[in-house]
Amino acid sequence: MTTTHELKVYMDKDIDRNFILNKKVAVIGYGSQGYGQSTNLKDSGVNVVVGLRPDGPSAKKAEQEGLKVMSIEDAVKWADLIQILIPDEVQAKVYETQIKPHLRPGQYLMFAHGFNIHYKRIVPPADVNVLMVAPKGPGHTVRSEYKLGKGVPSLIAVYQDPSGDSKNVALAYAACIGAGRSGIYETNFKEETETDLFGEQAVLCGGLSALLKAGFETLVEGGYSPYMAYFECLHEMKLIVDLVNQGGISDMRYSISNTAEWGDMTIGPRIITPAVKEEMKKVLKEIQDGTFANEWMAEYNSGMKKFRQLEKEGEEHEIERVGKELRSKFTWNNADSRIINRDKN
Ligand code: NAD
Ligand code: MG
Ligand code: MG
Repeated sequence: MTTTHELKVYMDKDIDRNFILNKKVAVIGYGSQGYGQSTNLKDSGVNVVVGLRPDGPSAKKAEQEGLKVMSIEDAVKWADLIQILIPDEVQAKVYETQIKPHLRPGQYLMFAHGFNIHYKRIVPPADVNVLMVAPKGPGHTVRSEYKLGKGVPSLIAVYQDPSGDSKNVALAYAACIGAGRSGIYETNFKEETETDLFGEQAVLCGGLSALLKAGFETLVEGGYSPYMAYFECLHEMKLIVDLVNQGGISDMRYSISNTAEWGDMTIGPRIITPAVKEEMKKVLKEIQDGTFANEWMAEYNSGMKKFRQLEKEGEEHEIERVGKELRSKFTWNNADSRIINRDKN
């Protein structure tokens, strides 16, 4: 398989940060991305506030990081640029009630994922700029990489551009969260939305967690120790993925034994069969025609019962209990070194 797309990447040296340094920036929400992006913006010298529900649980955490907190309405009135970092499923309602009534012509409305714009759950006025900066990694990692002097690669996109400089604004914002250290790539809302959903469903989150559990269950049902099954099927995953991430599949194969490599090349295709790829194509179709978006919003609007039930079943799986016990033995996995500390971020 060969492709003909050209790669255009923007690095720090290509970007004029003044497009964001001369603006007042409101980050709405302080979850994974809200935390990562607002703290990086502040450290890059951007005039940033966090817009939150006054009685919500995150205001204290944001203030502990030295960030200024406002109500969502006040933040929208104050800002030139509004980055919406609340969960996709609540954005439309918060937009209608707390953002839209205060929007002015020429403001910049930004997203980190195209879901609501692409599926037209939010339709901003034509005189407001609509753009995207989407880090290709979890928000907590956007922060932890920035602190190491690195950055999470990010996508930018422009949906509508009445001011004529939205692309430069998106590039400057992306640079200030650290993405210009590793690379910023231009896309559009349709491509970002559909590829992001597909990646997380088929490979990164859905495919991965199903693969981990199927492997673990197979060994345990075969009579082996769940601790051995955990090490072989879950713990080593990161070690292998680190090699793939740095040097591709070839570098990983260079490092593993020839026995492992022969097994990789001959048995892998028996696990991920042509039928699995056919199912991936069905999943992609459901993303493209809106079926997935409609089902997810219906689940949200009917109270998230199935969501909570599936989440609970996942938490009760044996692989989670065994993993918790084993990880507590790792001396380097202490509270200070963890990327996620639920009390603080
Ligand atoms: P999150 O679930 O971690 O955080 C949501 C935050 O929004 C909460 O902490 C809270 O401060 C606020 N919030 C929640 N409900 C609210 C409500 N009803 N009213 C007002 N505020 C509310 O969200 P996230 O995962 O950071 O996702 C934010 C956006 O970033 C989404 O568009 C998502 O697709 C995108 N994104 C996320 C990641 C990621 O790493 N999680 C990666 C790339 C893009
Ligand atoms: Mg996503
Ligand atoms: Mg082995």
